[in-house]
Order: sequence, then C-alpha cells, then structure tokens
Amino acid sequence: MNKAVYPGSFDPITSGHLDIIKRASRFVDKLIVLVCTNPKKQSLFSIQKRVKMIENNILDLPNVEVNICQGLVVDFLKVKDIELIIRGLRAISDFEEEFKMALMNQKLKEDTETIMLVAKGKYQYLSSSAVKEVAQFNGCIKDLVPKNVEQELKNKF
Ligand code: ADP
Repeated sequence: MNKAVYPGSFDPITSGHLDIIKRASRFVDKLIVLVCTNPKKQSLFSIQKRVKMIENNILDLPNVEVNICQGLVVDFLKVKDIELIIRGLRAISDFEEEFKMALMNQKLKEDTETIMLVAKGKYQYLSSSAVKEVAQFNGCIKDLVPKNVEQELKNKF
C-alpha cells in the first residue's frame, strides 16, 4: 500500500492546506495529515482543536486520516513504516526551508522521499499566520479557510 504523511502545524488549517490534502489523496492509497508541535511557533489553537478542525473537512475523503506528532516526523514514519512525505510549496520563499527539511529528513531516515506539490496560484499568498492576522483585526477571511475554521477564528478574537 502506497502511504504518505502530510506534516505541518495547521494552526489553523487553511484552504491552501486543504487543497494539498485533496490533491495528494488522489495519488496515494492512504494519506495521514500529521499535526505537529513546532517549538519555533507559539500556537493559537490547541493540538486537539487543530485536529478536529481538519477532521471536519475531510469527511468526503475516506483514505485520509489525522494523527498527532509530538516529536520528529521521521520517528512517526519509522513506527508506521512510511517513506513518503508530502509538502506544499508556495513561491520562492518556501523553497529553501523545504529543501533543508527534505535533506535533513533524508539524513535521519535514508529512505525518506519528499514530494512537494506546487500551491495553486490563488493560494500562493495564503498562510495560517496571515489568516490569523487578518482575523484578529476583523478582516474578511471567507474562502481563505474552511467555514468551521472561520467560525473558530471569530470565536477566538
Ligand atoms: P509548517 O509549520 O511545518 O510550515 P504549515 O502548517 O504552515 O506547517 O504548513 C504545512 C505545509 O503546507 C508546508 O509544506 C507548507 O509549505 C504548506 N502550505 C502552507 N500554506 C500553503 C498554501 N497556501 N498552499 C499550499 N501549501 C501550503
């Protein structure tokens, strides 16, 4: 079986993330969206809330599930016997970080392959941080995030 993980902070999930999930789910048998704790980032939503917000949007994708990762993604891959990581790539700015991460993961677990899907044009500028910033100042985030996330952000601010 052809399995892959799509790791990220998803704080919160955006329409850009969801697009990557849908596209990746078409070429793997099973896709695990891996919600990770990122020590470099202070998160707005708890990890359980982030998982719930994703789960509510993948009900029509039977081969996708959501898991939590508290440590290294490669350790999760080892336990689950998975070799493939999916990442999304926006503009040039993402490239260096994604490239370094792919090489590091390969160093930590040699058989790890990273496939980067190029973000759709309309999502190139979209990030969880930008959405949080706009929502904080009561700006319109319609279409940038799924409906349930829009509501959660309204409740937060
Ligand atoms: P991280 O904190 O690991 O960067 P994110 O949750 O911000 O996690 O993103 C997870 C993955 O999704 C990353 O590969 C990121 O480049 C990608 N991504 C983020 N936003 C978008 C978007 N608008 N379109 C496509 N991919 C995206």
